[in-house]
Amino acid sequence: MSQVVIIGAGVVGACCALTLLSDGHDVTLVEPGEPGGAQSASFGNGAWLSTASVVPMSLPGLWRNIPRTLLERDGPLVIRASALPRLAPWLLRFLAAGWRIEAVERTARALAALLGDAPARHQALAQAAGVAHLVVRSGLTYAYPSRAHFEAEAIAWRLRQAQRVIWRELDADDLRSHTPALAPSYTFGIEVPAGAHCRNPGAYVAALVSLARSRGARWVSGSVTGLVIEQGRLRAVRVGAGEAVPAEFAVISAGIDAASLARQAGCAIPLESERGYHIVLPAEGLSMRTPLMPSDGKMAVTQTEQGLRISGQVELASRSAAPDWRRAEVLLRHARRLFPALGFPQSSDAIPRWLGHRPSTPDGLPVLGACHPSGQVVCAFGHGHVGLAAAPASAELIGDLIAGRTPRIDPQPYRVSRFAGA
Ligand SMILES: Cc1cc2nc3c(=O)[nH]c(=O)nc-3n(C[C@H](O)[C@H](O)[C@H](O)COP(=O)(O)OP(=O)(O)OC[C@H]3O[C@@H](n4cnc5c(N)ncnc54)[C@H](O)[C@@H]3O)c2cc1C
Repeated sequence: MSQVVIIGAGVVGACCALTLLSDGHDVTLVEPGEPGGAQSASFGNGAWLSTASVVPMSLPGLWRNIPRTLLERDGPLVIRASALPRLAPWLLRFLAAGWRIEAVERTARALAALLGDAPARHQALAQAAGVAHLVVRSGLTYAYPSRAHFEAEAIAWRLRQAQRVIWRELDADDLRSHTPALAPSYTFGIEVPAGAHCRNPGAYVAALVSLARSRGARWVSGSVTGLVIEQGRLRAVRVGAGEAVPAEFAVISAGIDAASLARQAGCAIPLESERGYHIVLPAEGLSMRTPLMPSDGKMAVTQTEQGLRISGQVELASRSAAPDWRRAEVLLRHARRLFPALGFPQSSDAIPRWLGHRPSTPDGLPVLGACHPSGQVVCAFGHGHVGLAAAPASAELIGDLIAGRTPRIDPQPYRVSRFAGA
C-alpha cells in the first residue's frame, strides 16, 4: 500500500481520502483552511445532488445567445470586460466544446457516469459519517412560466432523456401543492424524483474529513507549495516554506488552485473560475416539497440548515477580483419575484452572502488521471458546476487508477491529455 498525499480537503479531496483509506493506503490530507470552510467551493454551492446535471454549459448555438444574455440586467451570466483578453483562449475552447451536438452527447454521457448514482453514494457517505440527516432524497424540481419555456430547452431535456434521467411534468396545480408560496407566474414544472440535496454542504464535508481522520488519515494544516520530483519520481509534497511530506502518490484536489500544481508536474490544464454567489434568506414557514430551479433565474433555491439558500450566477472575471455584490442583488431580486408574499429584505447588505469559485474546464468535464509520466501525480479537479454531486464517483475512479485496477468508470473522457498543447 502507498503513501498518498491529498492536496486540498474540499468535497473531492474528502471523498478521495475515504476511498483511498478503504483500499488500505496511508493517507495524508493537506489543507490550509477548515475542511468545508468558506474558502472552498464545497461550502457555498447550490447543494444539489442532481442526476440531471448532465447538460454541459456549452451547447450548440449558445454563441448566438451570449450577446443578449450579457445585456440582461438580471441575467445568469456576466463577463468582466477587463478579464476578456486573458479569458479568450478558455472561452474559445468553451464554445468549441459545445459546437457540435455529438460532442455534447459524449459530455453528457461522461457526466452521467459520475452523477447517475450520486444520491445513493452521498446517502451512504453521510450515514457512515454520522450526518445522515444532511442528505435528503426528496427529488429536485425545475419551474417554468409555461410549457413553452420548457420546450425552449428541448436540447437539454433530450440530453437528459438519453442518459435515462426520469422526470414527471407538473401543471400549475401540482406546482402550487409543491410550493404554495411560489409566484403564480410559474405554471409548469418538471420534477426529477431521483435527485437529492444536502442541507449543509460545509458541515457535510467537515464530517467526511472527520470520518477520514478517525479511520487513520493524517491532517496537515497548510498550503502545498511544490511537488518534490527527483529523477522522474515524485518523492514528497512541500507544505508552506518548510515541511516536505513524503509521498508515493499526490492527488491534486485543490479546486480552483489546482492548475498551478498540475503545471509543476508538466501539465497545462485550462482551468478558470466560473465565479458564483449565494445569499441566505430567512424562510422558516416556507413549505417546499423539493428544492427548485426557476428557469429565468437559473439559480438553485434550496432549504438548508442556515436558511433558504439562493445560489447561482456565472461571473467570468479574474480569480482575485473583489466580489461584485450586485450579483447577490440579482439573486435577491429573483427570490423576491419567486416568492412575492414572503417579504424578503430589499437589499443583500444585511444577509449572509458568499462568493465562490467553480473550478471549470472548458469542456465541462473534470480532469481525473495522472499528469506526470511516473503516474504518481494524479489530478482530481475541474468539476465546475457538479463537483458536490460527482465527488464520490470521481473518488472511486481515482482509487482505481492509484490501485492499478481496471476502473469501472471509463477514465477516457476525463484524461489529462485531452488538453495536450493547452
Ligand atoms: C455558486 C455555486 C453553486 C454550485 N452548485 C452546485 C450544486 O448545486 N451541485 C454540485 O454538485 N456542485 C455545485 N457547485 C460546484 C461545486 O461546489 C464544486 O465543483 C466543488 O465544490 C469542487 O470541489 P473541490 O473539492 O474540487 O474544490 P473546493 O471545494 O474548492 O476545495 C478545494 C480545497 O483545496 C484547498 N487548497 C487550495 N489550494 C491548496 C494548496 N496549495 N494546498 C492545499 N490545499 C489547497 C482549498 O483551501 C479548498 O479547501 C457550485 C459551485 C458554486 C460556486
